[in-house]
Amino acid sequence: MNETYDVVVVGGGAAGLSAALVLGRSRRSVLVIDAGEPRNAPAGHVHNYLGREGTEPAELLALGREEVGRYGVEVRAGRVSSAARTGGRFAVGLGDGSSVFARRLVLANGVVDVLPQVPGLEERFGRDVLHCPYCHGWEVAGLPLGVVASGEECVERALLFRQWSEDVVILLNGRPAPQGEDAERLAARGIRWVPGRIRRVVVEDDAVSGVELDGGEIVHRAALVVTTVPTADTTLLDALGGPEAPGVKVVGNAAAPYAGVIASAADGMTAGTLINHELVVEETAAAVAAYRKEAA
Ligand SMILES: Cc1cc2nc3c(=O)[nH]c(=O)nc-3n(C[C@H](O)[C@H](O)[C@H](O)COP(=O)(O)OP(=O)(O)OC[C@H]3O[C@@H](n4cnc5c(N)ncnc54)[C@H](O)[C@@H]3O)c2cc1C
Repeated sequence: MNETYDVVVVGGGAAGLSAALVLGRSRRSVLVIDAGEPRNAPAGHVHNYLGREGTEPAELLALGREEVGRYGVEVRAGRVSSAARTGGRFAVGLGDGSSVFARRLVLANGVVDVLPQVPGLEERFGRDVLHCPYCHGWEVAGLPLGVVASGEECVERALLFRQWSEDVVILLNGRPAPQGEDAERLAARGIRWVPGRIRRVVVEDDAVSGVELDGGEIVHRAALVVTTVPTADTTLLDALGGPEAPGVKVVGNAAAPYAGVIASAADGMTAGTLINHELVVEETAAAVAAYRKEAA
């Protein structure tokens, strides 16, 4: 297909769909291409999204797809494998070998969370292995929590999660014990730390019940807190010349990995309005040039 869309949006999460929504409502032709793996897919519910508090992640996006459809936006399942500027437009290659073209590109392809290398963590991520207190804290309030140390950040993580539970333990997993002021702050908040490497996460009846340490000791915990490394695939962005590349907007977690769903949606919406303004300016300039030519 050789059709040129006004805008192709790579990624149909909250950010990409919000960009598509405002662009569709601006009477732009928009194609959203989505690989269907939103970051929060493992979680049961989306929290802190005003008006949709507690909605399932898949349901929120299904609603979004239905809403953008009302304004003529096309949503296609697939993975974008390449993007290049060519002849004043963008050529966007899909994994199936097909290509589409666009005047503007929105990269809303999100991030993936890289977890500490502990057997069993990945499988429980988003359920009772948690990275974000604002996403999950309420659901584990008052429960015994274990903060899996990845580095010095474990102190702040433990102090933060202490807001939700009085029973917080740092699992040092081979890291040095907190010292000095850190140790004092933790002690003042009743937070202990346990030495030893974690051999595996212990799961019973489809729920985390603790961790087993290298020596065989079980530390009983109802949920584990991890620090993830949100990692963006920048292949497309790099090929286009980076975040400042003209005609390209990077939105949502791809631009701000710590933004929640509503902030990512807002980012996409703002980018959509900016793109529409750019196109209006471009079209007005072209119209003026044609007008002058005709008048001459
Ligand atoms: C376990 C967990 C729970 C969370 N809970 C909450 C919560 O309760 N509240 C909250 O505010 N935030 C929560 N978050 C954060 C939330 O996931 C992000 O804020 C949100 O997903 C960001 O939206 P996005 O559109 O930028 O990215 P995403 O939602 O990740 O969407 C990106 C989309 O782009 C697609 N994609 C990637 N590459 C390509 C490609 N090359 N071609 C086509 N498509 C592609 C992906 O498959 C995906 O569908 C949670 C995060 C995690 C990990």
